[in-house]
Amino acid sequence: MVRLSIFRLAETVVKEVAATTIPVVDSSLQRLPPLPSPRDLLKLYKIRAQRQLSQNFLLDFRINNKIITKTGKIQNSYVCEVGPGPGNITRSILQNGAKHVIVIEKDRRFLPSLELLSFVFLWYMNFVIMYGKKLIINFVYYRTLACEWTMLPPPLFIIGNLPFNISTALIIKWLRHCSKHTGPFIHGRTRLTLTFQKEVALRMVANANSEYRSRLSIMCQYLCNVNHLFNIPGKAFFPKPEVDVAVVKFTPRIRPLINQPFDLVEKIVSTIFHHRQKFCRYGIANLFPPNRPELVEEMINKSKVNPEKRSFSLEMEEFRDLCNVYNDICQNNKGIFEYNYLIHKKKYSMFDEEVEHDLPQTDVNVESDLENHKM
Ligand code: SAM
Repeated sequence: MVRLSIFRLAETVVKEVAATTIPVVDSSLQRLPPLPSPRDLLKLYKIRAQRQLSQNFLLDFRINNKIITKTGKIQNSYVCEVGPGPGNITRSILQNGAKHVIVIEKDRRFLPSLELLSFVFLWYMNFVIMYGKKLIINFVYYRTLACEWTMLPPPLFIIGNLPFNISTALIIKWLRHCSKHTGPFIHGRTRLTLTFQKEVALRMVANANSEYRSRLSIMCQYLCNVNHLFNIPGKAFFPKPEVDVAVVKFTPRIRPLINQPFDLVEKIVSTIFHHRQKFCRYGIANLFPPNRPELVEEMINKSKVNPEKRSFSLEMEEFRDLCNVYNDICQNNKGIFEYNYLIHKKKYSMFDEEVEHDLPQTDVNVESDLENHKM
């Protein structure tokens, strides 16, 4: 954690700004002292986007602001932003009047631009910069915010435009926390706004029979109200990613649509969607050892699910019934929950729990590319 010295910062800011001919811009930040734009900061600090780390910067102030205004009432709230980069979305968070902001960034090259923001906003709010390879946030820190689960969500938001591989792994990790009311949800139904590859967002919100219906649809929707807020065309980013991006908001449900442990739901959903186009009977059978066919029949009969429905056609209620019956069967038959038909093939891994990805690093020349980039 870096707590900033005002004097060191003031000195850095004055020196850096004076040393450049880059005009101080961003007229939309009315309440701010002059501040170089994120685009100029990238130039100023000669920061090259690491394409392999999916560093795609969102330099359009209007889009950043839309993410924040669609997130909810940010004024006087507490915000934790993961992956701020040079601070593009951070500016909108601060400008919209957040009371307390923590940013977590793993790339130290963004320190000067984040420090600059910190300096500018230091006068009237708390702004904490954290560096680290792991996204470890101690949410106990916000204990004064504690709200009962059944009450309105606490004024705490988690926001992030992260690389896609990380944001998908992270949302699964956070959904698990959501189911247990731990981690970010220790103080109540904390809302999350994250960016994803558009296709992934469509899977998250897909209804039964949709071509996008998948295990992600069930895992996200049984715990949260999931809103696909809007799409961002790839061309709004610098450098431009290959795909379009979607902004998705998660608000934890007071009562999950499936009242069973996360691991059990995950196992059912994962096993049944393993063969998305096949009759669900096939997936249900894979939940039990081959020498226990009577349990397959018991599962189908008691859940009343049509075994000839395909996985993607199953409604949330049908998954709920399958989970409830499977839980009863597991209670009455020792060792069934541990049975995993794929274990020998080492394939049974629904999601990558690891947030860190060691990727090779390739630099892209931001300075010259920025010149050519048209928003
Ligand atoms: N938020 C900025 C924006 O919208 O322009 C930057 C977005 S860029 C797609 C993703 C950012 O997440 C990068 O700054 C990257 O260094 C950071 N990042 C990647 N992995 C991270 C991790 N494990 N912890 C914290 N930050 C991470």
